[in-house]
Amino acid sequence: MGEEGQRRLNAASVLIAGCGALGSNSAEILARAGIGRILLIDSDVVELTNLQRQGLMDAADVGRPKADVVAEALRQINPEIRIAAEVVRIAAGNIERLITDIDLVLDGFDNLESRYLLNDACVKSAIPWIFATVAGTFGMTMPILPGEGPCLRCLFPEPAPEEAVLTAGTSGLINTIPRAIVALQATQAMKIILRSFAPPVRLTTYDIWQESFSAQKIPRNPGCLCCGT
Ligand SMILES: [Zn+2]
Repeated sequence: MGEEGQRRLNAASVLIAGCGALGSNSAEILARAGIGRILLIDSDVVELTNLQRQGLMDAADVGRPKADVVAEALRQINPEIRIAAEVVRIAAGNIERLITDIDLVLDGFDNLESRYLLNDACVKSAIPWIFATVAGTFGMTMPILPGEGPCLRCLFPEPAPEEAVLTAGTSGLINTIPRAIVALQATQAMKIILRSFAPPVRLTTYDIWQESFSAQKIPRNPGCLCCGT
């Protein structure tokens, strides 16, 4: 990445939206890469069953807020960067404040409602964000660059009913897929910060058990309710 690239990483402010299986692992990668400012948000506390898949947490952390636990670990990993944590659930009333002065958001949510809220706020404020989700042995990720590529609503116009969506809670989760998807997501994050990202935007899907990988070009939807004309 060179000296100039490292300087850009150090000048970047990134929001990790959710500190579960995705966010705990992406936060570690970005702190080690030298992202200069990381804001962590999550409303949950660590549960014993989370330890199977989450990074930076151990049995002694059960019952503590995930955002605080991840923040403490990141400060140990890289004391030279700025880390902040908020134990908060994203909502229409706080989203705009949370993305103020943020250059890029990494999706670490476990529900669609929060992702659509994030999508609409980021598109409105022209802040790039990187969608990611995992369930079972499968995961997917796609960077969203407002004005340059499709948004989440171009891909999935309406949130699917919550009961139709696989989550770690309903389907279980092999503990290797979050790390595989986070590796792709964090790489896209660094490319966006280094201005090395070039269209077309692709939706990457990976089933780590079936060994099936695809990267499909996704066009903007001119009729999109969020980013269309
Ligand atoms: Zn759109």
